[in-house]
Amino acid sequence: MKQLLWIGGQYRETSSFIELKSPFHHGKLADVASASEEDVLDAISVGHEAAKTMAELTAHQRAEILENVVSLLKIEKEDCARIIAQEAAKPIKAARAEVERTIMTYAFAAQEARRIHGETVPMDAAPGGEGRLAFTVKEPIGLIAAITPFNFPMNLVAHKVGPAIAAGNTVVLKPASQTPLSAYKIAELFDRSGLPKGALNVVTGSGRAIGDFLVKDDRVKMVTFTGSPEVGKHIRENSGLKKVTLELGSNSAVIVDEGIDFEKTVPRIVSGAFAYQGQVCISVQRIFVHDSIYDSFVDAFVQETNKLKIGNPLDEDTDISSMITAYDTNRTSNWVHEAIGNGAKLALGGSAEAGIFQPTVLLQVPLSEKVSCEEVFAPVVHINRFQSFNDAIDMVNESKYGLQAGIFTNDVHKAIKAAKKLEVGGVMINEIPTFRVDQMPYGGVKMSGMGREGIKYAIEEMTELKLISFKTE
Ligand code: NAP
Repeated sequence: MKQLLWIGGQYRETSSFIELKSPFHHGKLADVASASEEDVLDAISVGHEAAKTMAELTAHQRAEILENVVSLLKIEKEDCARIIAQEAAKPIKAARAEVERTIMTYAFAAQEARRIHGETVPMDAAPGGEGRLAFTVKEPIGLIAAITPFNFPMNLVAHKVGPAIAAGNTVVLKPASQTPLSAYKIAELFDRSGLPKGALNVVTGSGRAIGDFLVKDDRVKMVTFTGSPEVGKHIRENSGLKKVTLELGSNSAVIVDEGIDFEKTVPRIVSGAFAYQGQVCISVQRIFVHDSIYDSFVDAFVQETNKLKIGNPLDEDTDISSMITAYDTNRTSNWVHEAIGNGAKLALGGSAEAGIFQPTVLLQVPLSEKVSCEEVFAPVVHINRFQSFNDAIDMVNESKYGLQAGIFTNDVHKAIKAAKKLEVGGVMINEIPTFRVDQMPYGGVKMSGMGREGIKYAIEEMTELKLISFKTE
């Protein structure tokens, strides 16, 4: 299969292609177009031009396009799940769950498209403001560059394209090189849904090679990026005065207090640690457990983790498959061995088996170890003990990241304290930090990013507020 670029509502040839291989069996999946500078600049021109058409669509027209996408996704959801499973090595159960969430994300976008509005402004609240009727409107910002990661190749595209189209903008989308096919599939569905030509363009190729063409171009009014902190920083430094939102990484933590129900909590935390091989930005990486229940928690956790099935992402019962690259598998192995060398205890896993990194549980890891203080982005979790609740909060906060944190406790005072003190974008009480539904505000503090997603909140970022004032007297 040859995957061409998608520019101006049609496929476009280019001179260079990159072989896309399965991270699991390493067989070829497609030859994917690698855009040249000229291709990217053309996509920008087309998106810039289409911004006028998009700005003229009514709210109900934009909503209907998004509703059509929802309908098509519902019909083609199994195909979509299989695309994700193949190019991302995401276990098919998780790939199906991602498509269901993608459907919800576009459904929320369709709803929000109908309720983008401003407010009246009481100008006469200030002396000199009398005799005026004033209100705000939210206008589309124009062309948006959306740069997305490999780990949720449909739903994270939806979190950018959904609100952008809902608000009447146009998009040039640059998906991750490992997961381009999901993005091209979405472009096809939008085309069949009646989106004006040129409103959504997809360019593929190495982000390092073509990213700057998007980020530096003045016709691009905003860059919305999800990915690693290193690339996020580069984008922020190179995007001039454009709006920029950055959804970056994390080393998410959960606190487990005494007295909690193991039967409910342990399987939940296991799923938060190992879903999609831990390659989730809010994956549970650090678990802090009260001293009085530490040993029994570790036993139960290891027992539950042992139930996970390792295998082919397309097998119905697979929970864990290959990581995205061999480089990441080796990096993880090095970090785990470094931690063990520096005093951590290995309770489970610790190495790769037939190319798949085993679910790994480490105990009592020094917080300065990479598996703790860096984003491990792998099926590796560590369980440390705490005596005082304040210490647990301090250990969670001892991180350069701050996306979400979780706490399981029956003590409402501790829950409130955690909610106040944790330095993160979202605190999940009696829930794992990995919890997300797609309409909630979502984003981080510190090195986890800036700006918020969640359709309504992304629309705030993707619109300009204009004030209109009538002098009536
Ligand atoms: P990545 O390596 O940063 O890549 C993300 C995207 O940026 C890809 O499309 C990549 O293209 C592109 N890119 C690379 N270099 C670029 C440059 N110089 N200029 C512009 N674009 C460039 O991240 P990833 O490995 O795909 O994803 C994992 C990271 O994403 C983790 O840190 C994870 O925590 C984070 N993440 C965050 C969230 C959130 O909502 N906070 C959600 C999911 C993932 P290529 O693929 O061609 O290199």
